Amino acid sequence: MSDCLFCAIAAGDIPADIVFSDDAVVAFRDIAPQAPTHILVIPRAHHVNAHALAQEDAALVGRLLDVAGSLAERDGVAEGGYRIVTNTGELAGQSVPHVHFHVLGGRALAWPPG
Ligand code: 5GP
Ligand code: ZN
Repeated sequence: MSDCLFCAIAAGDIPADIVFSDDAVVAFRDIAPQAPTHILVIPRAHHVNAHALAQEDAALVGRLLDVAGSLAERDGVAEGGYRIVTNTGELAGQSVPHVHFHVLGGRALAWPPG
């Protein structure tokens, strides 16, 4: 989709610290990390949010979560514990309308979120 930041990152048009890439999934480090590990896992295809993705390509949800967990293991945060978050809509703080799973770990994470 034109004018989508994460489509541009997936296409390689905007640089990012890519930590995983295959035919359907790209993962890169968040530009403003909120934890020692803060990775964004996205589909190459443009879907607005997690519900839209689930409705449009349910199998891809599983692939994204598999990549998210594998990268948490690779970063060494899986044993201590980590969080996978996807924000949907303005009140939840979604700032990029291309579905992304945040993978956060490497420190204690407060719950509930503010
Ligand atoms: P959201 O607020 O939509 O849940 O998450 C969007 C995330 O994208 C934020 O954590 C923000 O720091 C990150 N982000 C925004 N622009 C860029 C960028 O150009 N590069 C990277 N790597 N991350 C970005
Ligand atoms: Zn997009």
